[in-house]
Amino acid sequence: MITKNCPYCAEEIHIDAKKCKHCGEYLDDNLRKKNQEKESKEQKIIVEQKRGGLMTFLIVLAIVALLIVLFGV
Ligand SMILES: [Zn+2]
Repeated sequence: MITKNCPYCAEEIHIDAKKCKHCGEYLDDNLRKKNQEKESKEQKIIVEQKRGGLMTFLIVLAIVALLIVLFGV
């Protein structure tokens, strides 16, 4: 088996390895970029979902406040 050393953790890995089995880093640049893009996209979605939840809460709160003011509940 032909091996090389992982540039991230210096462990011995297969010459054709796309991902290091020791530290989990992607050795293929395209694959790493793709994976990072996917991760940042997923993080963005989570942030947007959190923001959306807060906005909905504020809108509901505003409506409730308005009803209290209008009808004196
Ligand atoms: Zn490694």
